[in-house]
Amino acid sequence: MFNQIDLFTSALGLQKPWTVTDVSFDIAENRLDIYIARTKRSKVNCPVCGKECTVHDSKDRTWRHLNFFQYKAFIHCKIPRCNCIDHGVKQIDVPWTREGSGFTLLFEAFVMMLVRSMPVNAVANMIGIYSDRLWRIIDHYVAVAYESIDFSNVTNIGVDETSSKRCHNYITLFVDLDESKVLFATEGKDASTIKSFKNTLEKHDGTVSSIKNISCDMSPAFISGAKTNFPNANITFDKFHVIKRINELVDQVRREESRESDLLKGTRYLWLKNPENLTVKQSEQMTSLSKSKIKTLRAYNIKLSLQEFYEITDYEAAAVHLKKWFYWATHSKLKPMIDAAYFVKRHWDGVLRYTTSRITNGVLEGINSIVQSVKRRARGYGTIKHFISMVYLVCADLQFNLPIAFA
Ligand SMILES: [Zn+2]
Repeated sequence: MFNQIDLFTSALGLQKPWTVTDVSFDIAENRLDIYIARTKRSKVNCPVCGKECTVHDSKDRTWRHLNFFQYKAFIHCKIPRCNCIDHGVKQIDVPWTREGSGFTLLFEAFVMMLVRSMPVNAVANMIGIYSDRLWRIIDHYVAVAYESIDFSNVTNIGVDETSSKRCHNYITLFVDLDESKVLFATEGKDASTIKSFKNTLEKHDGTVSSIKNISCDMSPAFISGAKTNFPNANITFDKFHVIKRINELVDQVRREESRESDLLKGTRYLWLKNPENLTVKQSEQMTSLSKSKIKTLRAYNIKLSLQEFYEITDYEAAAVHLKKWFYWATHSKLKPMIDAAYFVKRHWDGVLRYTTSRITNGVLEGINSIVQSVKRRARGYGTIKHFISMVYLVCADLQFNLPIAFA
């Protein structure tokens, strides 16, 4: 038959020389205090070299543990310090906590599970600790787990920026396009972010030469950063960003033309769609518009032709199509479409590269929406560091080495 002490020793997964010596239960205070001690008083092991040493002194310590039902549980123990001839006076390792933490490992494991799916402030309220202390736990485990990520197999990356707080600050995300996970997040959106990524990549066993493709928008900062730090990687300009820019220019034609003609009233969204996505009503509208010689329709057809380019998988054929497209757009007599043509020409290689790389920032769009939701449920994140910790926690596929028992 177990007595109460044995029961708690076993419930906590404690092994020799550690054992529960006393348990006190205070219903009025809603708390449970568990006292642990070493069974043998003799030698202890140095935490650095493992050598058996004499006990120098002992210090009372307390850790918050998982609740038992509604009762807050605390573990108390006099922890010996050893006197190692090589390493001096050191506090010995105990199995239920990590150095410097006021919580048991199981408590921290539970916290890390909760913060993946609940707002940090709600977790702090639920378990009754200040969110600052909670953040210290999160930052610690995320940093440790991030340390051990291996980048040696990364070949195709996507880069994009995301606003971190009411659009005042930006963080730049680097994503593994094959694994759909965040590799690196950093403050800012300039060329130096690529340099920081390169340093991080190398720290995690990746090499500059193993990065074959980079997908990004046409921001000059990303382009110059990529060319400087990854001279052998091919840049593919994200096709969604390219089409978005062309759509804006088509809309410019529409706006200018609507000043002269009433035909275009209420057609703004018509031109943003592809023909196959039009509603019946919009289709009829389009058919009727195509009977009049309107500039916007010409601009729209130029955009559709660029979209066709994205369907072509043969490099030579795609290059021919893009050249013809450029000629058409430059001879359209529509200023915004001529701008569109030169916009593509300035980014020619990176636009054409899609034919062979077939990469886009589509993965990043998905991750970005997760990041935005993380942001929403994390009011008062305080610092960018916390925000980045949270991005890693949710989007970086971190492996946490957390215990299920003290043993
Ligand atoms: Zn030692």
